[in-house]
Amino acid sequence: MELLGRSREELRALCVALGEPAYRGDQLYRALYVDRTFDLAQVSTLPAALRAKLAKETTVTTPVVRQRYASSDGSVRYLLALGETAEAGPEKKKAQRPASVEAVFMPSENRQTICVSTQAGCAVDCQFCMTAQLGLIRNLTPGEILAQVLLPLEEHKRTLTPQTNVVLMGQGEPLLNFDNVMAAVRTLLDPAGVGLAPKHVTLSTSGIVPGIEKLAKEKVRPKLAISLNASSDAQRDVLMPINKKYPLEKLLAACRDFPRGSREYLTFEYVLLGGVNDTAKDARRVARLMAGLGRVKVNLIPWNPGSLPYQEPGEKSIERFHKILLEKGIPVFTRYSRGRDVMAACGQLALTEASGNPLPVLS
Ligand code: SF4
Repeated sequence: MELLGRSREELRALCVALGEPAYRGDQLYRALYVDRTFDLAQVSTLPAALRAKLAKETTVTTPVVRQRYASSDGSVRYLLALGETAEAGPEKKKAQRPASVEAVFMPSENRQTICVSTQAGCAVDCQFCMTAQLGLIRNLTPGEILAQVLLPLEEHKRTLTPQTNVVLMGQGEPLLNFDNVMAAVRTLLDPAGVGLAPKHVTLSTSGIVPGIEKLAKEKVRPKLAISLNASSDAQRDVLMPINKKYPLEKLLAACRDFPRGSREYLTFEYVLLGGVNDTAKDARRVARLMAGLGRVKVNLIPWNPGSLPYQEPGEKSIERFHKILLEKGIPVFTRYSRGRDVMAACGQLALTEASGNPLPVLS
């Protein structure tokens, strides 16, 4: 039985099944998610006999770090090899394939942000995304999602600041792996687990409306970000074909109904593609889409040149887009993606690796 990814209740039940008191499960939970001890022989809070039993009956599997790519801006991209999983279901054949995913650790002055993947590959087919070219390989397990947070935190433990942000924005559509993602998020947000604040964990979706509605009913939820990237249905149908299934009207209605704290903003991510969605008309249409949604903010992300046939937007069109939204009273931030020199678009590392043409390792 794999332990990483198990909830506190599951670990308590496991200890009881092994003839131990339930509180041993709490100690195990703490060891995994607070102390980040993955070698059970080192968990000194547990009696030796229980450690021996656990060693016989269970495993703690962490992804293998295939490569680390250090960016000149301080961020580190990890290419992680995941093993086979025994995940059942209709995707069984795919689910058992080993896979590679990426996580990115981005330190800044007063916090560190970790971007994690929720699926290996992705079925959503956004036209500007490298991950889409992989197709869906498989869903990640809760343990594989959590490991992408725990490994970088452990590796950088000497330089961590008190605030850790996690963004579910790497490979995959989180809401299409809902149960596993939420199991991982609950442990991230559990004060007795990883202990992050809900306002510091953000789930970014391409706009899976039933998933947004389901997330709205969760007791403890991360913040929601919508990957918008277009100013009209016609444009979004092309850039993000998922829009044909969940068009803007339905998506924005789900956003409007999404419960938010009194000071919580709903974030819209907008990748600016030069000559495609970066005109003044686009900016005005985006402003109109935001009307009536309550507290929202827009993150503009100038396209990061790569091997896909899109152009970087010009400085002038970035500024113009930014200014128009500001003038319409919408909080807007222009964000250049971190780790540009080590390929920043999601899926780029795994795709490069799969092509047998890996990047140079910088550290
Ligand atoms: S942008 Fe996100 S949802 Fe769209 S294909 Fe890429 S990984 Fe999937």
